[in-house]
Amino acid sequence: MPPAASSTPAKPKQSDLFGAETAEVEMALGATGIARVQLEDAGAMELDYGIPEALADKVVIGTRVMVPLQNRRVNAVVLALLDESPHRGKLKEIASIIGQRPMFTPGLVKLARWIAEYYVVSPHQVLRTMLPQAVRDKPGSFVMDSHLTLVKEPAPAEFEKLRSKAPMQARVLDILRSCKGEATLSQIRQDVPRAATILKPLLKAGWITRSEVRVERDPFHDEQFLPSQPLTLTEEQQAAYDRILKVIESPEKSKPILLHGITGSGKTEVYLQAIARVIERGGTALVLVPEIALTPQTIERFKARFSSIKDRIAVLHSHLSDGERHDEWFKIHEDRADIVIGARSAIFAPLERLGIIIVDEEHEPSFKQDETPRYHARDVAVVRGSLEKCVVLLGSATPSLESFENAASGKYEVLHLTKRTDGRTLPLIRIVDMRMERRKGTGTSVANAGILSEKLRAAITSRLEKKEQTILFLNRRGFNTSLTCLGCGETVQCQDCSIPMTLHKHENRLVCHVCGSRRLPPTKCPACQEPGLKFTGFGTERVEAVVREVFPQARIARVDTDTIQRKNQLRDLLREFRAQKIDIMIGTQMIAKGLDFPNVTLVGVLNADLALNLPDFRAAERTLQLLVQVAGRAGRGEVKGEVVVQTYAPHSPAVQFSRHNDFEGFAQQELEQRRAFHYPPYTHVVLLASRGKHQTMAEFALQTLHRRLLVDLPEKVIMGEPAPCAMAKAHGQFRYQLLLRSSKIRPLCRHIQQVIVATKLPADVIVTWDVDPVSLL
Ligand code: ADP
Ligand code: ZN
Repeated sequence: MPPAASSTPAKPKQSDLFGAETAEVEMALGATGIARVQLEDAGAMELDYGIPEALADKVVIGTRVMVPLQNRRVNAVVLALLDESPHRGKLKEIASIIGQRPMFTPGLVKLARWIAEYYVVSPHQVLRTMLPQAVRDKPGSFVMDSHLTLVKEPAPAEFEKLRSKAPMQARVLDILRSCKGEATLSQIRQDVPRAATILKPLLKAGWITRSEVRVERDPFHDEQFLPSQPLTLTEEQQAAYDRILKVIESPEKSKPILLHGITGSGKTEVYLQAIARVIERGGTALVLVPEIALTPQTIERFKARFSSIKDRIAVLHSHLSDGERHDEWFKIHEDRADIVIGARSAIFAPLERLGIIIVDEEHEPSFKQDETPRYHARDVAVVRGSLEKCVVLLGSATPSLESFENAASGKYEVLHLTKRTDGRTLPLIRIVDMRMERRKGTGTSVANAGILSEKLRAAITSRLEKKEQTILFLNRRGFNTSLTCLGCGETVQCQDCSIPMTLHKHENRLVCHVCGSRRLPPTKCPACQEPGLKFTGFGTERVEAVVREVFPQARIARVDTDTIQRKNQLRDLLREFRAQKIDIMIGTQMIAKGLDFPNVTLVGVLNADLALNLPDFRAAERTLQLLVQVAGRAGRGEVKGEVVVQTYAPHSPAVQFSRHNDFEGFAQQELEQRRAFHYPPYTHVVLLASRGKHQTMAEFALQTLHRRLLVDLPEKVIMGEPAPCAMAKAHGQFRYQLLLRSSKIRPLCRHIQQVIVATKLPADVIVTWDVDPVSLL
């Protein structure tokens, strides 16, 4: 949990992480004030520059500027305006400003400071991350078009002359006449491809005028939205909404709110109505959802509800083209958006008058950035909310234990939604012990034992008879998941990564799911040269084959990244599924989230243990979250849903508590363990990692750091030993890690920073550190 905003560094200072440099000094005349800036491309330098008179009223906090540095001009961001500088009278001046208005709001500048300090990264890296690349590199690179207006028609005789002499020019006039005298050049080009080159005489004759207009690259230009009306809230929703309204009205004193509501309890409806209120009051709203849940349906729900201002909704996510992202960002920047919906990085949307930040599915690990700066968008949202005095609403059916604990300790306020809006009960969850199933060995051929249990087969059969639909979930692609030698026990691994290669039968290749490398399956064991290699394990491709064999009459589809390559493909498939043209849908996590199909009455989880067996202290938490999410797909309609969970660990807490829909029970038990063993949320974790081509070097680097960290280690820090990562090698690099835990994060981070700066590490080893990591793999 991030500390309160008060920890934002008050005074600009030079960070020592990347080696400080002092400001360049030189006499400057006519400066009206002093700007302290952060260079965009280098280290942690903060320099002072004079503000020339011509720019006096344009340079404010957050303005991007060009400044002289040695013999170059470099980009920088204004962090503060000062009256005094230690170098006063000797300062160089800002050369120019970039963009019409400040690219960073004052709130974002403060936020950048906080991120730099909390996650121990250089401020310039944070500022870079805050702007989409297309905005950073080519600000204002809009697509322009010409707007043509027919102002005066030529006399009939003139027109006839034009038709015989320059038919294409006459054609342009004809088109303009047919569209009420107004058209864009690109419209006309569809008919007259060379229109741009023949306009001059028409302009000269005074028949038409031309003006330049900006064309928005709108990712949703071809989508239709049917307006929706606010629903009458249920009693629980109303209570939550009333409370949120109170906070919207006086956000200064508010805490972040955790909206803990089961799947289908109508959290989204509460968001929509809260946003409406914020906008009525003249504020803006920011909605973060996990990338995977940022589907057209999600966006459609917002556009439909806010259809009267649908052009004032901006969307930011990774599937946009650079151009689209650029234009969406500028739409926000130029105050043409009231609502921003986006994935992780949208937390940096340059909205002003922010009234509410909503983080849906706040427990999702994908809110954490997996490269520097490794920020967690949910935690950053909490800090941004407190800096900008706006409401922060975190929603989930299965809150992260961090947020759960924050609610329990009173740091967050918590609101509950315990019932589904349709009044229906949650699905019935049945656990199938696959150890028993294995022993029985009944039913389908031996090859398929361990894939479809008897119970699950019977359940699917009855759905097919009743014309109801089934979802089968397995978070693993491919046909067989490993190829093992029966002689020596060796498993065929990727040459660059320490994981078994997966057989993709359709293309007859072994594929590494980490680096993507492919090869033909060998016929002899690469280790002992004996034949007798055996394929084992199963992924979605094999499940599909088995299901087709067992249910030849069923209509079956598979949804994973092998079958779905384009976004429209998924949309079309889901449409078919909704239209009940598919009986059984098999899929990976692509189908685990947010899908709402009334006729799905059965969900099968083929292997609940995949997430459970990961060597990570959050394995149980993740498994429970997944089971609850997947189970939420069943029984959204008239008929009660059923979930069949296949597992080899039927008595594990994650399985048992999800069976009884007892999130609280799970949380209590899990938190006891975390407390006893000093794991989050009772401590913060910092994961130091090294990687390199040479195993000994990578290991040596961490051992050196470990030794040095021991010296003056802050009190109550628990430091492990350097050890190979669970995936000891990836992309040809050996990986080691060192886990540090402490209830106080700042002293620990400062200590790590100092040691890293002072330690010379082997040149070909990369050392990274991750504050509050969400995965230890
Ligand atoms: P959650 O986000 O909690 O999973 P949703 O907001 O998606 O739940 O709501 C689940 C379903 O219930 C949706 O189809 C939604 O339209 C419907 N719904 C939400 N609130 C109400 C309400 N007050 N009355 C009737 N239906 C509602
Ligand atoms: Zn690999």
